[in-house]
Amino acid sequence: MGVFFLPAYCFTSCFRQLSSMQSPQLFQQFPPPEANIIFAGDSAYPPFEWSGDNGPEGFNVDLAGAISVQGGTSVRYLLGEWRDTIEALESGDVDVAAMFVSPAREKLFHFTTPFYVVNHAVYASESHPQVNGAYNFSGQRVAVEERSVAHEKLLAEDLAVDIVLTASTQAALEAVLSGQADSVITTEPTAEYLIDNLELPLNRVSPPFWPSSYAFAVKHGRDDLHLWLQNALNAAIASNGYQDIYENWKSEIRPDGNSLIHIPFYVGYTAITAILFMVTFFLWSWTLRRKVINKTSDLQAALVRVSQSESHARYMADYETETDLARPHYFNQLVNEKLKQCPVNSELMIFRLIRLNEVSGTLGQSYSKELIETITARLKARITGPCCYFGRGTFALFSSRTEVRRFLEALSNEQTKQMPYIRYVAGSARFSKHGRSSEELLANADSALLTAFFNNKEWVVYDHSMDPSPKDQEIITALRTCSLEGMYAVYQPQIDIVTGQLTGAEALVRWQHPTLGALSPCDFIPLVETLGYISQVTEKMIDAAVDLAVRLREEGRPMVISVNVSVHDLADPAFFAKVKNAIQRCQGAFCDLKLELTETSFSSEIGTISETLTRLKCLGVGISIDDFGTGYSSLTYLSMFPVQELKIDQTFVFNLEANTKNCDIIRSTLMLAEHLKIKTVAEGVEDKETLSKLRELKCGCAQGYFISKPLPEAEFLKFIKEYSAPGQA
Ligand code: C2E
Ligand code: CA
Ligand code: CA
Repeated sequence: MGVFFLPAYCFTSCFRQLSSMQSPQLFQQFPPPEANIIFAGDSAYPPFEWSGDNGPEGFNVDLAGAISVQGGTSVRYLLGEWRDTIEALESGDVDVAAMFVSPAREKLFHFTTPFYVVNHAVYASESHPQVNGAYNFSGQRVAVEERSVAHEKLLAEDLAVDIVLTASTQAALEAVLSGQADSVITTEPTAEYLIDNLELPLNRVSPPFWPSSYAFAVKHGRDDLHLWLQNALNAAIASNGYQDIYENWKSEIRPDGNSLIHIPFYVGYTAITAILFMVTFFLWSWTLRRKVINKTSDLQAALVRVSQSESHARYMADYETETDLARPHYFNQLVNEKLKQCPVNSELMIFRLIRLNEVSGTLGQSYSKELIETITARLKARITGPCCYFGRGTFALFSSRTEVRRFLEALSNEQTKQMPYIRYVAGSARFSKHGRSSEELLANADSALLTAFFNNKEWVVYDHSMDPSPKDQEIITALRTCSLEGMYAVYQPQIDIVTGQLTGAEALVRWQHPTLGALSPCDFIPLVETLGYISQVTEKMIDAAVDLAVRLREEGRPMVISVNVSVHDLADPAFFAKVKNAIQRCQGAFCDLKLELTETSFSSEIGTISETLTRLKCLGVGISIDDFGTGYSSLTYLSMFPVQELKIDQTFVFNLEANTKNCDIIRSTLMLAEHLKIKTVAEGVEDKETLSKLRELKCGCAQGYFISKPLPEAEFLKFIKEYSAPGQA
């Protein structure tokens, strides 16, 4: 076969020198299987390989040179017709040939990794119509180089074409020109190269198709040769030597730019893109991490704030603000916890400061506040068990009997020395004799406290005789279950003593109890206050009074209706709004309502009460002091609150004619009122003589059975109509 091969070309000299300088040792050097490796190729397959004037030329030839350098051995390049080249490779006469990879060839040869990709195309004369590829040549004569990939594909795909085989690509092109074939299918670079260089009147008439990988092939079984070749090719591709070869040949071998020679660039671009992507990803993930960290710390801070405000809210719910002592519900919880351990000799005590209002009225509000602070401090210092503040000067504590007794003794000593004006009353209940739960002990200690209060004692320990009466118990149960159902207002008229004219009426509550029948306010008002229902009673009475006043005004008989309010009502900061809304809701006149301030218990919240009353007075609501002369703080109220009227208590009015002492008290009260420009109403006027005496003393108004008993609404309206003659009371 050596006869048809053109003279060999030896590369070892110049390539080795060039490439060894440029190429670092990237790959492991595999020993060449032979001292001289023979590459073979197509003698007419430019720009890849062909016989030039000085021997083999082309891209493949230069690449073989680079492989020779990287592989450390000399290489010879033999060229011939393509079919002979393939046969020589099959027979083992030559070692290596560059060719397109195909399934048929892979059966014969072992290929290296491809180093280039080439497309095929159809070439024909200018008159030939454009075609889509190799598939619509039915019946045509198509020239292909023998044993080329195009030849193999036409056979493999069984296309209905008339194949014209030629010995070279150039011969195939010339077959079209000579009329032996209608068109030729060949690789683009070779066809373009030949058409350009030989100025053949042929055109490409199809888009590129059949992209084929170009690689070096060795005969199967030549593993050592393949290993050496692959390694040397890798080294050549990785080195600048390969890139130089590509740069030299790219204008010829890349008519469409679709080439594996770009691999290094692709690798480079891919690497740069990958690096950029990684940098971007890193920055993105770093930013994301920062965001997550920031967000996490924000969330943690928010959680801390939430938990702080939650614990603050919980603290506010469990502890009373004025004293920092437990609120009743929390106190019960703490005591019940302690009771689980069955503490022997333990005692629950309630004590209440009395005459607190009188003290604040005389010594100033700050004094009563100081008093509560001092007692709180003593409790915290001396009592190891739970302590509670109920407000309004009432405390509770749970501890050992000894501690409770010592605390009271100390309080009694201080009472006379450091806090001379304080008076207290206390009641206690013992575990387990008087109760097994905090609630039970508290209720019994409260009964003991009331007993102490009514019997003028400082401290009483509970016993069963102090339990509320069955009637009280029933009232308590009814209040707790059916609440205020059955309660209504009755009205007692008031007249001007001089003119005899009707000036107003007092609304008084009545309760038609389902089982106990009609109840007097004296039976249930103290319980209503104790159980905390008084504000609901007051609201109900205000609504009734305002409703009546509106109707009377509409009928042309405007009249002031008085309602009894307790200090508990006035100490409620929402009370002002409740009254204002009740009047506005009915479109009533503020001046038709008067509030009678009774003193059934004391309050240290004088400031709030004073502010509420002042605001109500500004609206036009009247303010009156009830039972003047009997309470502890009548004078205090007179000095602190914006009062327009005082009601002289009926105890001074009864039997006025005969009782000169009471007469003197009323006279001085009337003088005081006149001096302060305050109106006066005498209560409990039961007869004509008393009314005459009051007229003589120059008392302003009168209210009592002599004028009328308290009347249900319908009767009261009838009374108004019938009561027409002034001065006839
Ligand atoms: P109070 O405010 O001093 O009401 C006057 C009481 O004297 C009323 O008793 C009335 O029926 C009674 N009364 C009037 N004229 C005479 C008389 O000529 N002779 C005699 N012996 N008594 C007379 P009532 O209705 O039983 O009320 C008792 C107390 O209950 C009231 O005394 C007041 O402190 C309280 N109360 C009544 N209704 C209410 C209410 O709606 N709210 C509040 N907080 N307390 C009320
Ligand atoms: Ca009253
Ligand atoms: Ca009264």
